[in-house]
Amino acid sequence: MTHVFEKRRNRLRAMKELSESYLPPEQVITCPSCGQEVAREEVERALSVCPACGHHFPISGPARLRLVMDGAKYRELYRHVQAGNPLDFPGYDDKLRAAQEKTGLDEAVIVATGEIGGRRCVACVLDSRFMMGSMSAAVGEKLTLGIEYTVRRALPLIIFSASGGARMQEGILSLMQMAKTSAALAKLSQKGLLYISVLTDPTMGGVTASFASLGDVILAEPGALIGFAGPRVIEQTIGQSLPEGFQRAEFLMEHGFIDAIVPRSGLRDALAKLLMLHEGGTAWRKH
Ligand SMILES: [Zn+2]
Repeated sequence: MTHVFEKRRNRLRAMKELSESYLPPEQVITCPSCGQEVAREEVERALSVCPACGHHFPISGPARLRLVMDGAKYRELYRHVQAGNPLDFPGYDDKLRAAQEKTGLDEAVIVATGEIGGRRCVACVLDSRFMMGSMSAAVGEKLTLGIEYTVRRALPLIIFSASGGARMQEGILSLMQMAKTSAALAKLSQKGLLYISVLTDPTMGGVTASFASLGDVILAEPGALIGFAGPRVIEQTIGQSLPEGFQRAEFLMEHGFIDAIVPRSGLRDALAKLLMLHEGGTAWRKH
């Protein structure tokens, strides 16, 4: 019985955290997608999803981990890795400090370990509140350390992406993280381990062009914008207007880029099922 209460308490706390960082403070929210006025409480209860049209509001990294992990519990790894200012880019130190204060995070990615559906895994989540989840050398290093940890312990890996792309203030050092993370994932693949990539709104630039697209299974949240360059940049470059819904998860699903669109309410179960299936012939013995 205590277990049930604890579960409910954790879930309520998770729902509150889900809404804290992104939803407007008003009690009635106008949905940016359907324009309907909806009660904040209802949106919170639906895991930061509009009850009228299913628009998925962004959620923070910690909220994402609480949402998918058993008992909303996880252990963070490699928290000490933080960005420097390798190019002495003016104002970058202040921006980093402001992002750290705003989010309570050291960098734009959280590497964690925990259980989903009773199965241990490593989960990395990019937090778009921290400089748009952009990829610094520290983000690349944390992801690589997380992947290497996964390989050493022969665990499955899940990466939740939400990123504007490269960290402009780190120039070429940011771009080098594309090769670094991809090389680490190649080792994971050679070992036959499972990597599930979950694309959330938005996943752009060098993140799409590297680890986010390398999943054995690629899932996306409904309506997520996924691409390399943004739609406006493409339109200006090619001088043509783009088709309706271009670069949205549904469009990419139709064109074979992603395997499934999973609403937030079903994400935990979908991940638990994939982890169970990947366990192969040993699963029936354990459960
Ligand atoms: Zn809506």
